[in-house]
Amino acid sequence: MSKEIPYKIYLEESEMPKQWYNVRADMKNKPAPLLNPGTHEPMTVEELSGVFCRELAEQELNDKDPYIDIPQEILDFYKMYRPSPLVRAYCLEKALGTPAKIYYKFEGNNTSGSHKLNSAIAQAYYAKKQGLKGVTTETGAGQWGTALSMACAYLGLDCKVYMVKVSYEQKPFRREVMRTYGADVTPSPSNTTNIGRKILEQFPGTTGSLGCAISEAVEVAVSSEGYRYVLGSVLSQVLLHQSVIGLETMAACDKYDIKPDVIIGCAGGGSNLGGLISPFMGRKLRGEADYEFIAVEPASCPSLTRGKYAYDFCDTGMVCPLAKMYTLGSGFIPSANHAGGLRYHGMSSVVSQLYDDGLITARSVEQTSVFEAAEKFARVEGILPAPESSHAIRVAIDEALKCKETGEEKTILFGLTGTGYFDMVAYQKYNDHEMSDYIPSDEEIAASLAKLPKF
Ligand SMILES: *Cc1c(COP(=O)(O)O)cnc(C)c1O
Repeated sequence: MSKEIPYKIYLEESEMPKQWYNVRADMKNKPAPLLNPGTHEPMTVEELSGVFCRELAEQELNDKDPYIDIPQEILDFYKMYRPSPLVRAYCLEKALGTPAKIYYKFEGNNTSGSHKLNSAIAQAYYAKKQGLKGVTTETGAGQWGTALSMACAYLGLDCKVYMVKVSYEQKPFRREVMRTYGADVTPSPSNTTNIGRKILEQFPGTTGSLGCAISEAVEVAVSSEGYRYVLGSVLSQVLLHQSVIGLETMAACDKYDIKPDVIIGCAGGGSNLGGLISPFMGRKLRGEADYEFIAVEPASCPSLTRGKYAYDFCDTGMVCPLAKMYTLGSGFIPSANHAGGLRYHGMSSVVSQLYDDGLITARSVEQTSVFEAAEKFARVEGILPAPESSHAIRVAIDEALKCKETGEEKTILFGLTGTGYFDMVAYQKYNDHEMSDYIPSDEEIAASLAKLPKF
């Protein structure tokens, strides 16, 4: 007999995960190693420790231990905003008239408005533990910078954020949230770094790019004593921290005997998707259960569906290690899509390997249809979703409508990564029917892939 499912399932504090799950331990084909961009040899913990904190460097290279203890200080911080609810989307099911059961794990219930806080607190914690003064990072849309500012404020760590100039000007409120948490926010390109001055000289009036902001943040980290550079997605350590999403979801499902058939997540660098699916993927890899996993990406930046599985630079400045991943090329500039968090040229090496092994499928969706789904969701479920999250909503709705045709009573689970309160310009464009869909041509993608590093 199945129990009656409440609208919202909250775990007890005592049921929250105390360890992160490292899916790499159960993968038969491990993700390819990070390579030193100079020697093309696998990066060692020693080498990575110049860029990341020691313990994070170890986590980055650890593909053996399935479970890693979450330090007590991080567990305590998690308790401020976790467990996050697993919601049964009864209202959406009814509006769609589908026999499918739809669930979403909601990660937008903290001030950063996204799942990014799960890794921000971990990265800031290890930096503090190592006795560092502070961290530097870049932010595009602003969610990662906000999450990191919150974590640094809590731990008394300095936080320098390079924010892409166009976002800095268009999203002044995001900037003020970061400053309220004590972060030092600089529009990029800036006069505070060599690379920034060089770019400003070459392109006066430029509105900046993520690639440029990364280069500035890295330059400041390596030239300031007691600082390290941190990244909010893509890395295996970030997926590890984000596994808290999947572990909570699995505990809630097990408690109520919920067996998802399809698990869906939006994919930018792959951290929320990887975190949500990891424990379920572990069961699949160990032959204990089966699930269909779907990664959803924007048609304007289709790294899984149209990219190449190859070694590439993680940053435009080509200073970070080489990673083997599905990529569009580190020089690929996606068109102006409003889902800022999904505009990265590559994909987590863990997600890439699972996709290459046929364990995950991928779909790309156009932004107008994404906002249609966002609007429908907001009107019946109440939450105003982030544009990024709405990619997962789009495919969840599509799957539920398929069930309506076939009469299948599938259980569909998706990750709702955040809220969209700072994305009102995007919603305005949609409401005014001014939103466009740009899909890169095969020639554009081929031209970018032709510049992949060769060795
Ligand atoms: C950053 C972000 C994403 C995409 O990042 P992943 O690393 O792919 O998870 C998705 N949703 C929101 C709300 C974000 O802030």
